[in-house]
Amino acid sequence: MPLPKIEFCDSWIYDDQWRYFYQKLGKEYPAHGKLPARLRRLEKAWQKDGDRILREMEKATGLRWQEKKIQCFVVGRMVPFSFPLTIMVEEGPIERTVDILTHELIHQLFVQNDKGGEAYGAWAHIHRKYKKEPFNTRIHIPVHAVHHRVLGKLFGEKRLEREMASLKGFPEYERAWEIVLEEGAEEILAEFRERVGK
Ligand SMILES: [Zn+2]
Repeated sequence: MPLPKIEFCDSWIYDDQWRYFYQKLGKEYPAHGKLPARLRRLEKAWQKDGDRILREMEKATGLRWQEKKIQCFVVGRMVPFSFPLTIMVEEGPIERTVDILTHELIHQLFVQNDKGGEAYGAWAHIHRKYKKEPFNTRIHIPVHAVHHRVLGKLFGEKRLEREMASLKGFPEYERAWEIVLEEGAEEILAEFRERVGK
């Protein structure tokens, strides 16, 4: 299966929903006119590194991308999520946005494989082994292990540290990083891969 193409989308209606939401909270929201240039910046950055990132995710998990195309909606402000894949692009270093997108795409890879049940055994193991941890922590143990490998292999230690630092203050995510560092990303991934397809 070839790697999926990420199609970056600007939906005026969708962006407007987020604007409405933030403005109700009395918060600032960027003008829609700013989005096209931000979207192109991200598109360019993704063209450079995207395929290597997507390939490394497959190697890390033992899973394959199931879809040829993934739409990624780009909006002015929100907390990113994976389905429908939606992120915000702010001013500042575009690598940060690539790293946020990578996190959400790791979730996407898992979601795409849910349908065929490919990773059922692997996830059952995670939920059993870490049953005392909150659900969100359990979910993020494999996600962070994959991200650790992608960042470590392709971009180096500094970028990895910046990613970990960005989740400081979010206890469930911090805990998942703690477990990944304690047990080792590669060890967690090996245990995961062993159970794929079972
Ligand atoms: Zn996540």
